[in-house]
Amino acid sequence: MRSRFYESLHYFRMDLRDNMQANKEQSSTDKVIVVGGGLAGCELSLQLARAGVAVKLIEMKPLKRTPAQHSDQLAELVCSNSFRSDDIGNAIGLLKREMRNLGSAIMEAADATAVPAGSALAVDRILFGEYLTRLIDEHPLIELSHEIVENIPDLNEASAVVICTGPLTDTALATEIAHLTGRDSLYFYDAIAPIIDAESINWDIVWRQSRYDKGDADYANIPLSQEEYYTFIENIVQGEKVTPKAFEEAKYFEGCLPIEVMAERGVETLAHGPLKPVGLRDPRTDTRPYAVAQLRMENQAASAWNMVGFQTRLKYPEQKRIFKSLPGLEDAEFLRFGSIHRNTYLHAPSVLDEQLRSVHRKGLYFAGQITGVEGYVESSACGQMIAWHVLSHLKGQEFTAPPCTTAFGAMRRHLRQDGVLSDYVPSNLNWSFFDPIEKLPKRRNEHGRRVKESKRDRRLRMAIRAQEDLKAWATQVGLAWQDVSPETQADSDASQ
Ligand SMILES: Cc1cc2nc3c(=O)[nH]c(=O)nc-3n(C[C@H](O)[C@H](O)[C@H](O)COP(=O)(O)OP(=O)(O)OC[C@H]3O[C@@H](n4cnc5c(N)ncnc54)[C@H](O)[C@@H]3O)c2cc1C
Repeated sequence: MRSRFYESLHYFRMDLRDNMQANKEQSSTDKVIVVGGGLAGCELSLQLARAGVAVKLIEMKPLKRTPAQHSDQLAELVCSNSFRSDDIGNAIGLLKREMRNLGSAIMEAADATAVPAGSALAVDRILFGEYLTRLIDEHPLIELSHEIVENIPDLNEASAVVICTGPLTDTALATEIAHLTGRDSLYFYDAIAPIIDAESINWDIVWRQSRYDKGDADYANIPLSQEEYYTFIENIVQGEKVTPKAFEEAKYFEGCLPIEVMAERGVETLAHGPLKPVGLRDPRTDTRPYAVAQLRMENQAASAWNMVGFQTRLKYPEQKRIFKSLPGLEDAEFLRFGSIHRNTYLHAPSVLDEQLRSVHRKGLYFAGQITGVEGYVESSACGQMIAWHVLSHLKGQEFTAPPCTTAFGAMRRHLRQDGVLSDYVPSNLNWSFFDPIEKLPKRRNEHGRRVKESKRDRRLRMAIRAQEDLKAWATQVGLAWQDVSPETQADSDASQ
């Protein structure tokens, strides 16, 4: 399957090269400064340069590395070598498909350096870094400069500036960004709670009610008996946790403690904290349970629910095992797992405007993980999307956003918190950010039984809709479209 893909990619690259010379003359006066030669910075620089715009890409390596880096290559993958599932029935697989459709340089490099990994896309990280470093080095419109940037570059020197310095942005620059955006808008740690697909919750056990029936029933409640609660606490305390990196000093805010830290403080701590049962009655028994774990509606469509207070360092398989042991969550599907990282990120919904540019300084953009997207694929895709915005800005035009039926549109929805009800935290792309699709009526199977459409089939329909809508949108905004092999592969785990 991949060889056919490469063949089409080869012709696509030749087209790009042919177009490059023409574009170069069109906009040779524009210059964009890109700070950070990671995944977002490389994708963005190559998108701009391939569209004929001169780029100065500034990367601090080899003068300095972040605490997670081990090499001096550009686009370093600091941990796993996996870009996760390549199946379009998976939100991240669909995003990768869309990136390829629209000429992503990171996907080009990943496909060219892929190693066997079942239905996932994994790469040889050295070859991957070399491939991108070479693309950047050899591009006539990109000037690569090695500097530790301490101040946001001056817009007098360029038509636009894009900061892509990632989750471990060097301190002096992070301080300046905090100064520009306001300290409350730049965070240095994330504390993320899991999100569960509504359809996988057993609503015969979990019931909707707000404490003391105040307001609408925006919460869903999981009842625990005393025995269930004690077992749960024991599981959390014993569960395997991700060991913090040396640079991730365990400094937590009291209001946002990991669930395991609270459990370790005493067996009753959670029953008096996030799992307190006050103001809630289980309608099946008309009694107050010993403890209640609450879920909060994550989006207006109520298709996803956030586990309140469940930010955690438990390993993903442990989260699956322990949280699925809660009554009503036996079949839970986790759209996102909980995590706690050192992570420099902006409160994008208030710091970026509709055009995803800074509200504080004209011509200033941010891309990659620093915006609050999460993961290699999302950071790269964010670089690609911001490049389209910058290109429109250079032409003095507003950019029409991709529809929320597509993976790019869904990622943008997260950045704008459009219809998302929880507080803004970094997030992997997941189906809760997409527009829902109408359910099909039940149909008869070969045994004459009426069955509902499987979740996987519904997601494949969403993916097909996304491809159609993205293509129509790309035509409308004038982006070159590349058809990619239509096969889907078996789904793979969401783990990184
Ligand atoms: C420890 C760790 C492990 C991770 N593991 C994974 C994983 O396994 N899978 C996954 O999908 N995601 C992972 N992530 C999350 C994230 O996807 C990656 O960090 C990703 O590389 C982010 O891409 P980016 O382009 O936004 O930033 P980066 O790839 O970090 O690139 C930022 C670049 O900016 C440079 N820079 C920083 N400050 C300055 C400055 N002041 N001046 C000049 N240059 C500067 C850096 O040297 C770096 O090259 C991990 C994150 C961390 C911190």
